Amino acid sequence: MIENNHKPVAVIGAGPAGLYAAQYLARQGVEVALFNRDIKPGGLAEYGIFPDKVKMRTGLMAQFERILAMPNVRYRGNVTIGQSGDISLDQLRQAGFGAMMVTTGAQQNNWLGLPGEDLQGVYHANDIVFHYNRLPAYADQQLDFGRQVAVIGVGNVMLDVVNYLKGHHTPCTVTAYARRGPGEVKFDQQTLEPVAGCLDLEAIGEAVKEAYPSMASAGDAVRKFYALLVGAREKSAECDTGLTFRMRFLMSPLRLIGDESGRVKAIQFEINHLVHEGEAVFSRGTGRLETVAADTVIFSIGSRVNPDFGLPVAQGNYVTTPEPHFPIDGISYEVYNPDLCARCEDIFVSGWARLASEGIVGLARKDAERGARALLGYLDTLQPDATTSIDAVLTRLPRLDKKVVDFADLTVLSEEEGRIAAQQGLPAFKFSSNADMLDAIERGLARKL
Ligand SMILES: Cc1cc2nc3c(=O)[nH]c(=O)nc-3n(C[C@H](O)[C@H](O)[C@H](O)COP(=O)(O)OP(=O)(O)OC[C@H]3O[C@@H](n4cnc5c(N)ncnc54)[C@H](O)[C@@H]3O)c2cc1C
Repeated sequence: MIENNHKPVAVIGAGPAGLYAAQYLARQGVEVALFNRDIKPGGLAEYGIFPDKVKMRTGLMAQFERILAMPNVRYRGNVTIGQSGDISLDQLRQAGFGAMMVTTGAQQNNWLGLPGEDLQGVYHANDIVFHYNRLPAYADQQLDFGRQVAVIGVGNVMLDVVNYLKGHHTPCTVTAYARRGPGEVKFDQQTLEPVAGCLDLEAIGEAVKEAYPSMASAGDAVRKFYALLVGAREKSAECDTGLTFRMRFLMSPLRLIGDESGRVKAIQFEINHLVHEGEAVFSRGTGRLETVAADTVIFSIGSRVNPDFGLPVAQGNYVTTPEPHFPIDGISYEVYNPDLCARCEDIFVSGWARLASEGIVGLARKDAERGARALLGYLDTLQPDATTSIDAVLTRLPRLDKKVVDFADLTVLSEEEGRIAAQQGLPAFKFSSNADMLDAIERGLARKL
């Protein structure tokens, strides 16, 4: 580890971006406090990635544990930062942190604002993802799926939702609706594989045929799309759970229609055509309408940052200055406040907080490490300060009226979950409420006395 006299840094959010930013800074000798709203670290690596991806999840968790065990990293879980949280950015600054890296991810669901989104049977994909991954507040939520499920959106999260339905709710027919054409689907072959055996290739063939006249270089796009389906299908087992999986293209939902009991029963779509501008492909409404039956509608259209955090937001992301002092590879990581016409010069942002719902863990890591480099550039401009230790800074923060979870507590929690899994003969066990996790930590600590 490099020795230096930099002031301690607060990293806010212990998802992949926060953890990798903390690791980067800690390896440069900076002392880092890592604040996290959730008790457990990992963000969407803990509460988003599909549970069957055991190898990936276990690998990430092992890396995260090594980061949290670094001697100059302090984990503070169960602490929400921000203007509506437990501690404000100003309080962090006043306590003596030299700079802040915001890696709070994209915490607010995107909706389209259509009539009928509040009907029964309408969900955001995150409701389902957080439910099966046991995120407190979602874990015990009752989900009431019907037999005709419509998913709006054609990305990897849509496929995770289909995969969950395949294992937990059949028989049913799931149709994923895309605004654009088969050439613009956003999923990859690997994520498709677990559900490729359920594809209704005949129905999808019809849907592709409908879209064909609107597609430029349609032959190429269709070949690429079918290569994706066939590649996934070759690696997948036959679907034996009674789920039928279809896709439709060039359809934008206009409104959801309810029945007399208040449950969704249909969606009205406008049919689109595609407009090609250079490499970009846009969809435009044709004015033609189609209504399809659906007793469950799931919006899988991504998320945006939390607007109540206290930083300026534009297009779902925290705003960065267009003229950064410390650009990395041409990218700005410095927060910008257009209302005050001032740069918040000690606040940096990376990961999904900078670009909401953009990319996988590898990309979040790259972004966080670039952001950490930018932040280091800023720290280098400050007066060296060898006297302010991270532990001294932490003692100057307001005392919270609740348990703040540190790395030692996390170790105890994971031992307690391991003990229950062993007792119940399960591969893994996860507490589904903060209260249960905090009780388990107390119990585990008492056992160690
Ligand atoms: C359903 C789903 C499945 C995915 N599957 C995969 C996959 O299989 N493979 C893959 O590589 N990637 C996958 N991804 C993408 C991956 O999860 C993201 O790229 C990555 O998690 C983004 O990291 P992040 O740290 O920016 O945000 P997040 O992971 O969202 O982490 C944000 C953290 O900030 C904390 N936080 C939020 N607000 C506050 C606050 N005010 N104060 C303190 N802490 C706060 C949260 O508790 C959380 O811990 C998936 C994403 C989703 C949604």
